[in-house]
Amino acid sequence: MSGRLIPKDKDYPKLSKATSGYVENPYFEKSDLNRGYFCYDCIYFINGNDCAIVRKDGPDVNGEESGIIAPHGLCTLWIPDETKTN
Ligand code: SF4
Repeated sequence: MSGRLIPKDKDYPKLSKATSGYVENPYFEKSDLNRGYFCYDCIYFINGNDCAIVRKDGPDVNGEESGIIAPHGLCTLWIPDETKTN
């Protein structure tokens, strides 16, 4: 499945970060985001720190509020975008 098939301009109800299991670990910020499990190479990721199915606002599973979906973030709904992963 390609990320190009997921409509990202629609206003669907989104899950909260806490419900999705979203976390951000600052130690991964400088990682090679084309390898491993990161929002950056998820089919739902939207360039500009957003996600098609998880809201940017509110606390994550650790109670942290970054206000963004970070490229180095991750949640339990991650599905690889084969056009980005190495
Ligand atoms: S891993 Fe989760 S929060 Fe990150 S882009 Fe994919 S669905 Fe959105």
